Amino acid sequence: MTATLINGKAFAADLRARIATGVAAMTARGITPGLAVVLVGEDPASQVYVRSKGRMTREVGMNSFEHRLPAETPQADLLALIDRLNADPSVNGILVQLPLPRHMDESAVINAIYPDKDVDGFHILNVGRLATGQKAMVPCTPLGCLMLLRDHLGDLGGKNALVIGRSNIVGKPMAQLLLRDSATVTVAHSRTKNLPELCRQADIIVAAVGRARFVQGDWIKPGATVIDVGINRTDDGLVGDVDFDAASQTAGAITPVPGGVGPMTIACLLANTLTATARVNGLPDPE
Ligand code: NDP
Repeated sequence: MTATLINGKAFAADLRARIATGVAAMTARGITPGLAVVLVGEDPASQVYVRSKGRMTREVGMNSFEHRLPAETPQADLLALIDRLNADPSVNGILVQLPLPRHMDESAVINAIYPDKDVDGFHILNVGRLATGQKAMVPCTPLGCLMLLRDHLGDLGGKNALVIGRSNIVGKPMAQLLLRDSATVTVAHSRTKNLPELCRQADIIVAAVGRARFVQGDWIKPGATVIDVGINRTDDGLVGDVDFDAASQTAGAITPVPGGVGPMTIACLLANTLTATARVNGLPDPE
């Protein structure tokens, strides 16, 4: 392996320690940030995420409020809960764990969250704010990727960045963030032609495809920085969307799976909750 390993786990631990310091400073002023997480149904992966979100929220000194609703809950009841959380001053961030049961309209639910408490950054107003360069809540996974890229590369201006995937939660906001940092951004998806060629021109690759070891080693430009968002369960455990062993022979730097982007997502959720708390109290955004 020749590539530098981008250690998201260590970066995330450091970020959480800085957040804890920010929380302590706020608590000393009588403000304790609070994050409400709503889980509808019993999806096992979602239960694991919600549990670890709650634990890490408490670890940085924030209040964690968990709301578990049965899978058959009517959408109107979920919307009523969101209304209560919107109005509750002890709740600074609201996260509704996705996916929701099929009888619910995900967009309607997400857009019912008060935008300044939308710490996932999925509300249509935050999407629009990000796209137009206004102060927004930024989706956690791409925000984490951006932090790792800035930390490793410094200024991203003029770099050729390829985002593979165009989902609302990863690919699209990732492309917006890279554009905001003046990278030259290409977004690839399932209808893209010549993906290996596009990869070979990229100084930065962010892979968010959802297919195990999809990005091949010989697609990577020598020295490129590769951020692997993928989490795929296989017979040999969790693997990313990039063929790590091959890619790390050519890349300049690469995130591992696990231990790369994954830990950044929850850390950024906590960072967003601290930011939301600062903004509602008229304080400057935390560093
Ligand atoms: P989605 O399934 O919503 O999106 C996948 C994207 O990949 C789509 O835009 C799709 O294109 C594109 N795609 C599929 N096949 C190809 C192909 N052959 N060539 C090029 N593009 C292709 O996934 P998510 O964005 O939600 O997640 C992506 C991955 O990231 C998953 O592995 C997920 O588990 C992981 N993830 C990790 C997180 C973390 O914290 N580390 C958080 C969120 C997700 P099209 O639009 O044309 O269908």
